[in-house]
Amino acid sequence: RQQAADARCMEPAITLDGHAVEVFANQGDIKGTPAAIAYGAEGIGLLRTEFLFMAHAKAPDLAAQEADYRQVMDALEGRPLVVRTLDVGGDKPLPYWPIPAEENPYLGLRGVRLTLQRPEIMETQLRALMRAADSRPLRIMFPMVGSVTEWRQARDMARRVALDTPVKDLQLGIMVEVPSAALLAPVLAAEVDFFSVGTNDLTQYTLAIDRGHPVLSAQADGLHPAVLKLIDMTVKAAHAHGKWVGVCGELAADPHAVPILVGLDVDELSVSARSVPLVKARVRELDMTKTRALAQQALDMAGPGDVRALVEAFD
Ligand code: PEP
Ligand code: MG
Repeated sequence: RQQAADARCMEPAITLDGHAVEVFANQGDIKGTPAAIAYGAEGIGLLRTEFLFMAHAKAPDLAAQEADYRQVMDALEGRPLVVRTLDVGGDKPLPYWPIPAEENPYLGLRGVRLTLQRPEIMETQLRALMRAADSRPLRIMFPMVGSVTEWRQARDMARRVALDTPVKDLQLGIMVEVPSAALLAPVLAAEVDFFSVGTNDLTQYTLAIDRGHPVLSAQADGLHPAVLKLIDMTVKAAHAHGKWVGVCGELAADPHAVPILVGLDVDELSVSARSVPLVKARVRELDMTKTRALAQQALDMAGPGDVRALVEAFD
């Protein structure tokens, strides 16, 4: 199965009835792009920039960041790049920017909440990204957005920075990983260029289960119908406004989840580079009419086990 998938990994992922799903790779360093392309990734759907920051002993300045981003963009040779702004806090510490100890770090200063408090950090990053992109396409998304106000503040900052950079082809979007963002998707969809669903955190926050919890994390299953309903709302809102939706959490590479996500009309799946061939192969087995019906049934199930059983019976 893996061999058959590998042999066709450079071909697009098109369902039996001709519906194309983009399959991108997640990347957490600056060097991984050529390998991702070799596995068949059609672009980078999530560049986790906190790992680029962690690779530096002290805060990287504008020039150092610009060089890092340029390396990724050069390797992509025009393929799409979705970059996430710095996502630290919660489970992701950064030694040279100590965050005051919090009793509940997952519910504290994380992601865009933190960078909006430290605008100089985000402005430098945005400027470095836009300078590296120049006239190449660039998609920037903000992590952990939980309110329309946070989105607008981040967007306004990006627009301001864009004015004095050469960037020409810029899309701005958000990660949908806080339930409030999914619930407000109809409002946000009018303003963003795209959504990318972060199912790792969306599942954690929807089910109130710490994603790394030693006892409970196995129950933090993104195929929970409560999570699927939020994804469904997000896709419907986005498509009503002509915007695209990706899924970049680990769920996107789960063989049981691929038919459900495709059936919910997700446009793009972003997975670890090594998973790209199998995800593409999985998409090629699907028929959209049946897959959409399957996804609708999944939304009405009682729990993730029922959804998994439904997919098993479908195969
Ligand atoms: C997610 O939350 O699903 C996600 C992709 O982001 P991270 O795993 O880096 O928090
Ligand atoms: Mg996340």
